[in-house]
This record gives sequence, structure tokens and C-alpha cells, in this order.
Amino acid sequence: MRIGAHVSSAGGPHTAFPKALAMGAEALQVFLSAPQQWRLPALSDEQAEAFIAARGEAAIPVFTHAIYLSNFGSQDEAIQEKSVASLGGYLEWAGRLGIEGVIVHVGSHLGLGFDAVRDQACRLLGTVLERAPEHVSLLLENNAGQGNCMGRSFAELGSLIRGLGDDPRLGICLDTCHAFAMGYDIANTEGCELALTELANELGPGRLRAVHANDSKGALGGVKDRHENIGEGSIGYDGFRTLMAHRAFADVPFLLEVPGIDGKGPDAENIRRLKQLRDEAGAPGA
Ligand SMILES: [Zn+2]
Ligand SMILES: [Zn+2]
Repeated sequence: MRIGAHVSSAGGPHTAFPKALAMGAEALQVFLSAPQQWRLPALSDEQAEAFIAARGEAAIPVFTHAIYLSNFGSQDEAIQEKSVASLGGYLEWAGRLGIEGVIVHVGSHLGLGFDAVRDQACRLLGTVLERAPEHVSLLLENNAGQGNCMGRSFAELGSLIRGLGDDPRLGICLDTCHAFAMGYDIANTEGCELALTELANELGPGRLRAVHANDSKGALGGVKDRHENIGEGSIGYDGFRTLMAHRAFADVPFLLEVPGIDGKGPDAENIRRLKQLRDEAGAPGA
């Protein structure tokens, strides 16, 4: 179980590696473009070479998070096309840069209901996969159940994966804050076992490939996507110790997306906390 973090790409994505190592990270998540903009990732040859060199030197697994604007449940054809182009671009760049997986929010059904747009979302994501490299994972992220988000439950994520023909590149990134906000009580032994049994039943083996390790400002089932520093939220130290002890997470990288002690994002202190909890849980190290 590697403990990692989302790290800023300011100064170029390659600069995230030394920043990650400096804070003690054993895995990394970066953006390849501004997440609130449609502009496709476009690294110069120099930037790509610098990234590949930095990755080789750091020797830690790296993931990228797709932009927030894409929506595979939209009925707007322009949005659909831009979503396919953006995610396709992310997967292509991931292949070129040696990135293990692209983490994506499937989007919103905008009130039509999950079942009504599920086939469309699968068709669009299938188009993306057609041009995607063989060795890069596409990880669908669960959400906090707010609004009309698709992929709030393991059942919905499983339905999408089945709708995509169980493509081996597909997996999920489990956000602990989102799962807790959706009512998965992963903070105690019984609830964690229940949730991970449901996950295994809905998704089958080998689909859980990353964790967004975030404590939750909101309550269990509160449907609030508000991340908190490790130990300071409703999941708490006991909750993380419990979930990290579960065998299902043994080989899964934990990536922080927390506000940070100084409000500047994931930091050395949050990494230190997760590493200590990993030790206390008796979970395997990096
Ligand atoms: Zn997340
Ligand atoms: Zn979130």
C-alpha cells in the first residue's frame, strides 16, 4: 500500500515528482491540463522528456486526473464530443508518459436518471477506449451522490464497466470521502467489510486500482463532497486505521486530495499521518 498525493503541476507536470518525494509520497497524481478548462493536454517535447526522466528517477507510480468539465451523461452533442476528445487526449498522453491510470468523473445524468443515460455513457466511453493505449487503466471515480452524479454506488460503477464489455483497462478509484458521504460506513470494521463485499460483488476482482484518501467534513450519508485532512473529519484516525487494515486495499495506492494543514493541498503531515496509520493497521508498506 503506497501512500501518495495529488501534487500541483505548476511549473510543468514533471516538477510534481521532486515535490512529491520531498513530502514523502510513494505515489503521485497530477493534472496534465487545467481541470476547469476544455483545453486538451499539450506538453511540449521538452516537457514530455522531462516528465519521463523525472518519473524514471522518482520510480513511483503516477496517475492523472481528467478534467472536471467532461460529462458522458450530457445530452448536448458538443459537450459529448469535447468530453470524448478530452479523455481520449488524457489517455493518449498517459500512454506516452508512462502514467498508470487516468481517473475520471463520469458526469451527471442531469435529472434523467442513471438508467436513462447509462447506455449513452458507455457508448461514449467505448469510443474513448477504442483509441486508448493498451496498458493504461481508465479509473471511474465514485462520487458523494450530490446532484445527479453518475457512479455514486458500486452498482452504478459495475453497470458501466459491464456496459463497456468488462474491458480489462477499466477499474475504479474509490474516494473515501465520497463513499462515506454516500452512506458507505467504511470507518468501522463491520461497515467496511459490508462495503467491500458489495464492491467485490458488483465489480468483480481486480477493479479497485486506486484510492483517493480523504477524510470527510460531512457526516455519514450526508451527500457532501467536502474533503478534510486525515484524522480531522468524520472518518477520523480510527476509521482510516480500520479501512487500511482491510485486505482489499493491500496493493492499492492511496492518493491524498485533502485541503492540507496550511490550506495549500496535500502535504507532508497528511502523508505522515497515513503512513503511521498504515503501520498501526499492520498493512503492507510500499
Ligand atoms: Zn477524488
Ligand atoms: Zn471530492
